[in-house]
Amino acid sequence: MHTVERTVGWTIGMDCFRKEEQQTDQEVKMKDEECRLCLAALDPDDCGYSIAKNARFRKALEQVFTFKISFEAADLPEYTCKQCSWNVLDFQSFSELVKANQEKLQERSQRVDGHGKGI
Ligand SMILES: [Zn+2]
Repeated sequence: MHTVERTVGWTIGMDCFRKEEQQTDQEVKMKDEECRLCLAALDPDDCGYSIAKNARFRKALEQVFTFKISFEAADLPEYTCKQCSWNVLDFQSFSELVKANQEKLQERSQRVDGHGKGI
């Protein structure tokens, strides 16, 4: 296992799902645990975020994707894998960086305009 070094400034606890062990035969969930975003099979060790429970992660999803992801649908996978979780949060912080830089550029160009550009 390799260590992933990440400098992204986010700290959200992972929402590990647990296999329910006390299910009776009649109540076996038919829903396989798969990643909501990439549909990969989820391993309990490879837990990402719960889109149903993690409001901060939901916000990141809304920022990153232009299409709607339904958070309430009970029959859809609730969890994302670690890789997708990282992708979403990485992209969110990248998007925020770009946004901040655009504001910086705007400010800079206004400043140049304000101080008159010598001919
Ligand atoms: Zn995934």
